[in-house]
Amino acid sequence: MSANPIVAILGTTGVGKSNLAVELALHLTKSARASGWHGARVINADSMQVYSGMDIITNKIPMTERQGIEHLLMGFKKPGEQYTVGQWVDETLKLIEDTHKQRKIPIIVGGTSYWIQHLIFPNRLASRMHAQPRELSTQLQANIASLPQDLLEVYNNLPERPPSASTEPEAASRLHALLHHLDAEVAQRWHWKDTRKVSRSLEIMKETGRLPSEIIVHQSQSQDAGAPRFESLCFWLYADLSVLEQRLNERVDSMVQRGLLQEIQALQDLSKISETSSSDGLAESQRQVDYTLGIYQAIGYREFSRYLSISAPTSRDYGEAVERMKISTRQYAKRQISWMRNKFLPAVYGSKTASTRWLTPLYLLDATNLDDRWKSGVLIPAITVTEDFLAGNELVDPTSMSETAKQVLANPNIDTSPSVVLTCRKKIVCDMCTLKEGQPFMVEEGREWEAHTRSRAHRRRAKEAYSHTAPSQ
Ligand SMILES: [Zn+2]
Repeated sequence: MSANPIVAILGTTGVGKSNLAVELALHLTKSARASGWHGARVINADSMQVYSGMDIITNKIPMTERQGIEHLLMGFKKPGEQYTVGQWVDETLKLIEDTHKQRKIPIIVGGTSYWIQHLIFPNRLASRMHAQPRELSTQLQANIASLPQDLLEVYNNLPERPPSASTEPEAASRLHALLHHLDAEVAQRWHWKDTRKVSRSLEIMKETGRLPSEIIVHQSQSQDAGAPRFESLCFWLYADLSVLEQRLNERVDSMVQRGLLQEIQALQDLSKISETSSSDGLAESQRQVDYTLGIYQAIGYREFSRYLSISAPTSRDYGEAVERMKISTRQYAKRQISWMRNKFLPAVYGSKTASTRWLTPLYLLDATNLDDRWKSGVLIPAITVTEDFLAGNELVDPTSMSETAKQVLANPNIDTSPSVVLTCRKKIVCDMCTLKEGQPFMVEEGREWEAHTRSRAHRRRAKEAYSHTAPSQ
């Protein structure tokens, strides 16, 4: 019988993870005594649902649907507060221990798969390696030796807190320049204004003695990094994207009907109170709310706050905001699926070759058709597997569960090249829109860059630049 079992439910937004968790917990409450466990508690692993209030935008399961099952780490942070994967892992570890003491099963549920990944496979989190300081890698040594004097001073006196890009732009851009000198590959992933990420990358160098890019390469090469911390049973609730997209669109419509706009208005008011006024000549687009902080990252906020800032919005503006939110939601779902395939699956498969006490069974449950197949395709298989897992019985082969399970699980998209990690979400500098030297105007490649090149501000600058260089008639 399992000594410290946990059950994790992962998957994209809108597939019914919360419902499955409640139904599984109810079942365990009624019937798990045979395996020595008495019920279950749900621990939230959705990075937006940790925030209080804002229930529509964060998609929290309503109280009435929790059916008396305890939900932990949900709705306890203030909107602007930062909450990191490390903090979540620490608090979850305590709650798991406490839950096991009550002879209950912790069910970890959420779409923030990388939180769950770091919980189950601990040594994949680079920032937690600071327990063992080591000698500097040859590469880092060489890069430090070639630093110009002013950046060397910055490296030797890293600020305790990341500087604010709006009030200390010089300090912020110096940090980014330092990171660029030391580890250009990682520097191109962060905007120089994202000082928390830039500082974190620099801290990792101090803590580990290695470049962040070296760590990423090492992690993706080492097969045995990542023995699981618990005896874990994972369910990946999966839905075919084409069907899911329709469902997600309908959900956005329903969120709007239930009062999404009022929530966004309230959030906007909060952000205005806390915003420090700045008129330092930054471009309009660079002076907005920090969408990378706290609940302001929630899908819908950015899309609708633009709409709310229009003084006399038309129904067309409204329709566009709804459409933008639908697009962002679909893109989020796609990113979640690719994380599962490209990161979580390899971690699970990698742990099988590691010298470890436990395997980590991962079952894909096909929730493409929610209405008639929920019970037979999702709930009953989940209950059966969980019971076998808790009783220590032999488990059924995950690829035998469904055709989809066979297809997806048998063909993991394992990144063979670590450079994929390093080059994704790369920031491009727009020389045309860079107004101050050392403070480049940066935009993420892909959709954001394309939108930027079509923007009025960029087109105006391009035209001005052209008129300066064009030969006079
Ligand atoms: Zn531009």
